[in-house]
Amino acid sequence: MHRIVIKVGSHVLTENAQISKERMKALVEFIATLQKNGKEVILVSSGAVASGYTKLKLDKALVPNRQALAAIGQPLLLKMYQEKFDKFDIICSQVLLSAADFNSTKRTQHAKNAINVLLANKVVPIINENDVTATEELVFGDNDRLSAHVAHNFDAEILVILSDIAGYYDKDPNKFDDAMMYKTHSFLSDDALKQQHSANNEFATGGIVTKLQSAQFLLENGKEMFLASGFDLTDVKSFLLDGVQKGGTYFTANKTKG
Ligand code: ADP
Repeated sequence: MHRIVIKVGSHVLTENAQISKERMKALVEFIATLQKNGKEVILVSSGAVASGYTKLKLDKALVPNRQALAAIGQPLLLKMYQEKFDKFDIICSQVLLSAADFNSTKRTQHAKNAINVLLANKVVPIINENDVTATEELVFGDNDRLSAHVAHNFDAEILVILSDIAGYYDKDPNKFDDAMMYKTHSFLSDDALKQQHSANNEFATGGIVTKLQSAQFLLENGKEMFLASGFDLTDVKSFLLDGVQKGGTYFTANKTKG
């Protein structure tokens, strides 16, 4: 796998309504290691609303307030990332996109041209939804679907979603003690894709459904997805660096690989 998209959810990045410096540091360190191993990494990061909320306490129940919080928080979030990437002499960059950009081949090509130049120069693109003009992921998705479009359109082989959950289970593991995690998954039923949307955390909006929709979209387009814990990076490290799957769920058409 040469080009990888890593998506980190707001639940993983926040702790007590603040950006977790420890987790961001661990993520940045991991991306630096991937770069050293010859991988091109595009990061899709949530966390702008949570960052903004540390500065201004607007009512997050209202979408325009969340948009405003994202506008406040996005530069703060990028500043934190840049400080962490500086330690590895890596430049990072901000790319704001929305699903509608991918409806236009011209806009997609423009974005791809810029992404290719950034990656060729070992700059890490940090993508987020442009929440001032688009609210799709802000309301529902937490960048899960956006990251699937990013992986598909910018020629990544795999999307890695780092979540508050260690993988995809046969039922919600936060509700059922006997839930079993799938190691690989290649077929998503209509029922699974239409489940009630759920999310665990006041900053998370996606839940498992948007992750499954992303997996389905990628499988249909000949790509793969890996869902693993963002709290503990052990599984994703061994998967991407050593090619060994210890945990996590690997969504792939090729079951023998998993
Ligand atoms: P993140 O913010 O990390 O992107 P979310 O909290 O939005 O993730 O979504 C993951 C949550 O989805 C899990 O914590 C879990 O409670 C819930 N969930 C519901 N059904 C399942 C399932 N079958 N497998 C895994 N997680 C599930």
